[in-house]
Amino acid sequence: MGAAAVGKPAPSAFALRASTYGQSASTYAQGASADRSADKPAPDLRVDARALRERIEKLSTFGRPADGTFADGVSRIAYSDADIEGRRYVMGLMTAAGLQPGIDPAGNIFARRPGTENGLPPILFGSHIDSVPNGGNFDGDLGSLSALGVLEALQAADVRTRHPLEVVVWAHEEGFAFGRGLACSRIVAGEIVAADMDEVWNGMRRGEAIRRIGGNPDRILDARRPKGAHHCYLELHIEQGGTLERAAVPVGVVEGIVAIDKYDAVVTGFANHAGTTPIAERHDAMLAAAHLTVAVRDAVTRLPGRQVGTVGHIEVTPNSPNVIPGLARLSIELRDLSPQKLVAMMDDIRARAREIAANTQTTIEFTQTMRAAPAAADGDVQRAIERAGQTLGLGTSRLPSGAGHDAQMMAQLGPMGMIFVPSVGGVSHSPKELTRWEDCARGADVLLRTVLEMDRAG
Ligand SMILES: [Zn+2]
Repeated sequence: MGAAAVGKPAPSAFALRASTYGQSASTYAQGASADRSADKPAPDLRVDARALRERIEKLSTFGRPADGTFADGVSRIAYSDADIEGRRYVMGLMTAAGLQPGIDPAGNIFARRPGTENGLPPILFGSHIDSVPNGGNFDGDLGSLSALGVLEALQAADVRTRHPLEVVVWAHEEGFAFGRGLACSRIVAGEIVAADMDEVWNGMRRGEAIRRIGGNPDRILDARRPKGAHHCYLELHIEQGGTLERAAVPVGVVEGIVAIDKYDAVVTGFANHAGTTPIAERHDAMLAAAHLTVAVRDAVTRLPGRQVGTVGHIEVTPNSPNVIPGLARLSIELRDLSPQKLVAMMDDIRARAREIAANTQTTIEFTQTMRAAPAAADGDVQRAIERAGQTLGLGTSRLPSGAGHDAQMMAQLGPMGMIFVPSVGGVSHSPKELTRWEDCARGADVLLRTVLEMDRAG
C-alpha cells in the first residue's frame, strides 16, 4: 500500500526553511529525489516550525488592537472585516503552496491534496480562525495553520498518501455572531434549515453574513455532507485548560467533547422591608440562591471524576439594598463526558434545593434550557495519535475537552480525533492565551504523523 510518487517541488515562497529542528532546504531537496511513500516517511519529516510561527504572528495582525502587539491578542469576530482579511491571508498561503482553496456554500474554506487512491474518502483536518472579542492568537489559528503546514511538509518530502487530504478552515466557530457556536461545521453536519439564513444579528441577516465571506446562502443546503464523507476528521487545538501543563505532558489525546446540560433556576420568595422584617419571617430569594450555588458545587465535587458545574449568571429582583429579594434567577451549567453523570448531579441538586426551599421559606423551580450530547473521539484515532507521539518521543495523556469544538460536529459524520497542546496557565479566550512555540511545533508534527497513521488504516 502507499505508492510512491514524485510531487512538484514546493513553491519557493514557502519552500521549507531551516527550522528549529535543524532541517535545511537541502535535506528536503534530497528527499524529493528519493522514493517516499506514506508507509515509510522520512524520519526527519516535520512541519516547518519557523513558518508556522511566522504565520501565526502574521495572522494575529488581522484584528489586532490599534497600536497593539502580538501580546495584545486579537478581535477577529466572524464576518468582520478582520475575519475577511484573515481568511484572505490564509487562502493566499494555500494558493502559494500550490493548492486551490475553495469556499463551500456555508463559508468554510477547503483545500485538497489528491491521494494515490482517489476513490477513498479524504482525511479531513483543520480548525477555525475566527476569535472571540479580545481573544488570543492560538485558539483555532494553530490548528488551521498547522494543517496547511502538514500538506506542505508532505509535498516538500514527496510523500504521497493513499487517501486524498483535505484541509479545512471552519467559518464562525466561536458563536459570538448570531449567538451560536460551531455555526458552519454545524451546517456541514446537516443541522441547518434554509430559514436559518433569515436570522438577524447586529442588523445583518445571516445569509448576508455568509455571502460576505464568500459563501452562498441560496445553496446553503448543498454544504451538508453525508455520513462517511471523510475517512476521519482530525483537529489540533490548544487545550484551553491547565491539565497538560500541570502534568508536564506535551500532547493531549482527547477522549471526547463533554456533554453540557443547562438549567434556569427560579427562586421565589417575598420582597419586603429590609429594616422591619424579622429574620425568622423572611422569604429571602437571594439567600436561597446563595445556598443553591453552594449546593451545585457540592453536587459536582461529591463524585469522583473531572466533571464541572457553574452558576455563572444571577438576577435578583428588585435588586435594591433596602429590600429583601423576592425573586432570584440563576443559571446552572453542568459538563462531563457522561450524560448519566450529569443527570445524577442534577438529581442531587434538586434534592438539596428542596431542603433549601424549606429552610428559607421559598420555592425553587428548574427548567432545562439546553442539552448538548457528548461527542466521543474514535478509539482508533486516539491510538493513532498516541503512536504518533511515541514516534516523535513525546509523552501523551488522555483527557476530555471541556470546551466545544467543530470536531464534535464532524463526529456526527465519522471517526473524529483531537490533539491538544498545553496552554500556559490554562488561559484562553484572552489576550494572555499562550502556547509555547515548541509545543505548537510538536502539535503540528503529531498532526502530521497522525494523518500518516490514519492513512494506513482502512
Ligand atoms: Zn477554538
